[in-house]
Amino acid sequence: MTSVKAYAAQSAESPLAPLSIDRRDPGPHDVVIDIAYCGVCHSDVHAVRNEWGRTRYPIVPGHEITGYVVAVGNEVKRWKPGDTVGVGCMVNSCRECSACHEHQEQYCERGMTATYNSIDKRGDRTVTKGGYSTRIVVNEDFVLRIPQGMPLDRTAPLLCAGITTYSPLHRHGVTTGAKVGIVGLGGLGHVAVKIAKALGAHVTMISHSERKKADAEHLGADDFLLTRDPEVFKSHAKRFDFILDTISANHDYNAYLNLLRLDGTMVVVGLPEPAPVSADTLIQGRRSLAGSLIGGIKETQEMLDFCAKHGVLADIELIPASKINEAYDRMVKSDVRYRFVIDIQSLG
Ligand SMILES: [Zn+2]
Ligand SMILES: [Zn+2]
Repeated sequence: MTSVKAYAAQSAESPLAPLSIDRRDPGPHDVVIDIAYCGVCHSDVHAVRNEWGRTRYPIVPGHEITGYVVAVGNEVKRWKPGDTVGVGCMVNSCRECSACHEHQEQYCERGMTATYNSIDKRGDRTVTKGGYSTRIVVNEDFVLRIPQGMPLDRTAPLLCAGITTYSPLHRHGVTTGAKVGIVGLGGLGHVAVKIAKALGAHVTMISHSERKKADAEHLGADDFLLTRDPEVFKSHAKRFDFILDTISANHDYNAYLNLLRLDGTMVVVGLPEPAPVSADTLIQGRRSLAGSLIGGIKETQEMLDFCAKHGVLADIELIPASKINEAYDRMVKSDVRYRFVIDIQSLG
């Protein structure tokens, strides 16, 4: 075992603070990665503050990891020291169920092993610890290749925010000329705009905040709908082929579903409180409402290659680890453009 530096929370009430943690010695199929950057996802805040009620303390969050391979197990052929790599939301799965066979490990029927706060059932049975740390040891099949030339800091958020938005856009066939609405301009929404544009869509940012208009244009959105004015739901009814809803705050799905044209689909990736959906709204326009959870490892690699080809990167605010608690408070107030990324060198 190797002791490495990390940032951890000891309880739902305590701030993140430095902690030494152990990383296992690499097994035959493991890759040892020195972490360069780790993005800060909203899930990290929910987990640290135990807002989903299943946090195991101490918790080391972080599942938007980029860095360098420093050592590999003796059976590993695909990776070598010096490779630039990433790790996203998962570090293992059963490999045997139908979801795993279909490269959809995030839906593993026995439960994927999350990058943090998950029992490592197929490894050493400890609780996994994430990317707010200087080093991580990961099974070779759950390591992603960062294409040459991609900056590791601005690429880190793609490992969660990127795949979470790319997967539904790609899976639902968004392509040249599709009329796409992106609801919510945050960490997910800003990457979604860029990916939808790169897929050739006509992209409209749908937001309740007027001050997001200039930002949406800057990110490449073709149009902007300000939902504070309820009239827009009437004047733009039946306009979109596809809507990606990234909002986690409570809101009325039905209002947004009405913006879909015949056979349109809305995919939700945020997690608001349960809310009623009108069957009439779905029936009248033969509309579909669907959900989506990150993406499989194979698809995550496709997403990285796609983003490299099209120059898609996250807009970030780079912070030292010591600023993480402040960053959480700002993130909860949506005061970040658009993702905090921790410079892991700052852990010393
Ligand atoms: Zn995330
Ligand atoms: Zn499985």
